[in-house]
Amino acid sequence: GAAKPHQKKDEELYEMAIQYKKDEDFPGWYTDVLLKGQMLDYYDISGCYILRPWSYTIWQTIQNWFDDEIKKLGVQDCYFPMFVSQSRLEKEKDHIEGFAPEVAWVTRAGKSELEEHIAIRPTSETVMYPYYARWIQSHRDLPLKLNQWNSVVRWEFKNPQPFLRTREFLWQEGHTAFLDKAEADKEVLDILDLYRKVYTDLLAVPVIPGKKSEKEKFAGGDYTTTVEGFIPTTGRGIQGATSHHLGQNFSKMFDIFVESPDKNAEDKRCYVFQNSWGLSTRSLGVMVMTHGDDQGLVLPPKVALQQVVIVPVGLSKVEGRNQEIYDASLKLERELIAGGIRAKADLREGYTPGWKFNDWELRGVPLRLELGPRDIAANSTLAVRRYDNHKESFPLSDIANTVRKYLDDIQSALLVRASEVFDSRLKVVTNWDDVVPTLDAKNALVLPWCEQEQCEDEIKERSKSQSNKGETEDVKAPSAGAKSLCIPFDQKRFGEFPEGENQKCIQCGAKAKSWTLFGRSY
Ligand code: AMP
Repeated sequence: GAAKPHQKKDEELYEMAIQYKKDEDFPGWYTDVLLKGQMLDYYDISGCYILRPWSYTIWQTIQNWFDDEIKKLGVQDCYFPMFVSQSRLEKEKDHIEGFAPEVAWVTRAGKSELEEHIAIRPTSETVMYPYYARWIQSHRDLPLKLNQWNSVVRWEFKNPQPFLRTREFLWQEGHTAFLDKAEADKEVLDILDLYRKVYTDLLAVPVIPGKKSEKEKFAGGDYTTTVEGFIPTTGRGIQGATSHHLGQNFSKMFDIFVESPDKNAEDKRCYVFQNSWGLSTRSLGVMVMTHGDDQGLVLPPKVALQQVVIVPVGLSKVEGRNQEIYDASLKLERELIAGGIRAKADLREGYTPGWKFNDWELRGVPLRLELGPRDIAANSTLAVRRYDNHKESFPLSDIANTVRKYLDDIQSALLVRASEVFDSRLKVVTNWDDVVPTLDAKNALVLPWCEQEQCEDEIKERSKSQSNKGETEDVKAPSAGAKSLCIPFDQKRFGEFPEGENQKCIQCGAKAKSWTLFGRSY
């Protein structure tokens, strides 16, 4: 027997809908959208979350794309253990100083205390490099380019946020070794550009590539490059992904060297130059925060598990009368799938078309195709775009090609829309009095800065103490003061600086070295 049709009541519809407005209660909105959009679920350990298929598939899409790209650069995948001994973890002094407070330790097995406690990797430099020392014996073993897809654990005490800051997170970590510094330097930027493309081309999220300040660089590295994102609703910056040059710091600590090809060289040891680079599931959170709206998720077509939903409409109450519409919906589904589009006809019984519209809007499916008796008669379908609710009728002939092009347009439009917002919130400020009001208006700042750490600290302190006059302070906010986010590579974007001789550091008044992106951040 057929399942008994069950009409959802209006209250159920209301409970299903997002309860918060993005602009009014952003943290409430974010959580609600992730849970109801079925991206993730909470877990009974704080800071840990379950990635459901709706989000995990997006991560897999990123994984597949990025993995293909790094293979082209000669990188190979591998897997190292998640545990690291204390002595190895602590070998590079600056490195461990940076990570020590967040390292989780295994201290017990069953009932017995372990004689030597074992750390869980917060990142794998110290896990992998003892073996690099073993495997790299001659210049013929170079370059060595390995990557692993894994999870790492950082027991952070800052406010955890799904995807953005979690205690265990999925990422890839690439670790490469070169004879020449120039080759390593080049790779740092090649990888950074792939990270940029993950954000712009897959997730339709704008980012600014640049270099981290000395203070913000990776612990134990020489320099760090980053793609910085921005969440307009909160006016906060977010580090998108990082590509580090480690110089010879680790190779000297872990004895990774080859014999100098120069027989007369005084020092026969050539220590290798190393890079490490990582992109995490944080990227998914940035995507949700960027595109989502009061109706729920808005997924870019390239990464959406389901790109198109077909909803039968104009249904008859009389049983058996709707077969023609269902058949036409399934035919349309088959045609789209054959055309390489991830489409599904929603033939669930007992739900009204309106309920289904809401449901798929909440889940962020980029395109809805409505199909009813009148559409079938006219050999057309009504297409409704998720991101702006634009409606347009498409002929059913050649529908796969039409939809494929339309999805491409949606993908581009999402990036354009997000970029316009980011650009409008990027403010060049050269006068201190404008700093706090500009931050309070939820902007990111572009400041002339001398690149001295003291000024960076003072900018953070001053922008913290003066802020939020009259405004309610978000107590859970990770940082109220403005941090340096990056020194953008594209300096020209912000005008004639640094050629202009007279540009002064906004803090100390000495000659500024660069336009630097500052902002409140996650
Ligand atoms: P790092 O090794 O610190 O440079 O981090 C590499 C990348 O991982 C960063 O660019 C972040 O995007 C991301 N990341 C760092 N910490 C977390 C965290 N707690 N949760 C999620 N992603 C993180």
